[in-house]
Amino acid sequence: MDRRKFLEWLAGSVASMTTQTSNVRAQQSALPFRARGVYFHDGFTVEPKSHAPLYWDYATWRRAIQWLHACGLNVIEFATMLEFNRVPSTAMEKQKIADRLKILDYAHALGMEFGYILSNTVLSTVPPDEEPSHQLKNRAVTLCPRAPGNFEKTVAIPLFYMETYKEADFFEEFAADWGGCTCGQCGVADFLRYVRVLAERLKQLNPPATLYANTWCISYWGKEPLAHGWKGVFEKEIVGSREVITALPRLPDNVGVALPCHHLYRPLVFAENGGKSKTPVFPTADDVQQIRRAGRNVLAWPHFIMDDDPSRPPAWGIVHSEVRYLQALLQALQKTGIDRVMGNLYLPFLQLSNTFAWGRLCENPQRKPQDVIQEFARLIAHRDDAERLAEILTWVENNSYWQQQIPPDGRLPNLPCALNRATAAKQVERIRPNPSPSLPLPVSAEMWLYDLRRSIERMTWAA
Ligand SMILES: [Zn+2]
Repeated sequence: MDRRKFLEWLAGSVASMTTQTSNVRAQQSALPFRARGVYFHDGFTVEPKSHAPLYWDYATWRRAIQWLHACGLNVIEFATMLEFNRVPSTAMEKQKIADRLKILDYAHALGMEFGYILSNTVLSTVPPDEEPSHQLKNRAVTLCPRAPGNFEKTVAIPLFYMETYKEADFFEEFAADWGGCTCGQCGVADFLRYVRVLAERLKQLNPPATLYANTWCISYWGKEPLAHGWKGVFEKEIVGSREVITALPRLPDNVGVALPCHHLYRPLVFAENGGKSKTPVFPTADDVQQIRRAGRNVLAWPHFIMDDDPSRPPAWGIVHSEVRYLQALLQALQKTGIDRVMGNLYLPFLQLSNTFAWGRLCENPQRKPQDVIQEFARLIAHRDDAERLAEILTWVENNSYWQQQIPPDGRLPNLPCALNRATAAKQVERIRPNPSPSLPLPVSAEMWLYDLRRSIERMTWAA
């Protein structure tokens, strides 16, 4: 056996031991997730603007991250928002980068990891002397990397951001949404061209860091992804993800895989397949083992469950409670052997309850949802009102828009609760805030209770 073969054999043996350890972990599902993260999406505006991270300064971000840390989370992640995909030219863009570099240092000082998402084919069309803005303005294009000069022109942007945040613990190269190419000629191989170049550069900049190939919307590397509806998009996501997994041994050795895991939790996928029971399972434990056998890291990147975006107007800009579904997701991930996971936040100061629950459940996926809700209620409410707040939050949980969207066979049983919308709305008026919360809330309990009140008013689909 020559040296190279010996090293490959050694890597294989270590990967196999890791797989066996993961199987043990999967069986003991009260164990914490190793990476317990949140991805911040700061590309939307909202009223009041103070809730939109698009406008936050460093001091506000610091409060947000201190809160996540207190909730038991240990990873944060950012991305370059749609209109910002260019080499920065305005004072506002430069300030954002300066703040984010301070956030990176702050995260490291707290013992948290910092991750950054990179794009591929997208380029901002905002004039250089104008500030980029929220993404519904949609001032950006995607360029086919097969056309001469386009690959070099587009890969320069993620390379710039990788060099800027080179101290990050990991990066993700996001397949699409934004990005990708639907010209009909491009495919997964064209996505992997970006992965290769970025991974090779990362080896020079930060050798221990992983570059995850994130297969979110990988079906947008192909012709007409919606030709067969959303069902087709998600079916092609499985095929494309498996193509990436199969390619791993031929990719630089710092490349890992991040999987959206849509088929394990997302209402749209269950609905498109005619119910949860008819939805194919992806990833399976075998998929995850294949990644580990290649000696690579694997990360789950589920989205929309902690917080939702303006595409579903009823759910946008209100407080959500998804404790049961967050738990079901984490338990499903554990069954596959995945122990690194990134949740998501759009309006972090509204989603205090889901963030708290995410932290508690990532630390112990066996915690009872009722216990988590009660613990959160004690944090927010005056001690004489905590039980009442827990019941109100249980009503919000049972009537969540997430649950509304899930086909009946995927719905989880409601938690015991005697309230209806009218009584929940009435009771929430009487909750007094906790004068001395035991964790560093990023906004006052009083303010969050106000947001909860106006959220219940907006849940008009519920009885
Ligand atoms: Zn193309």
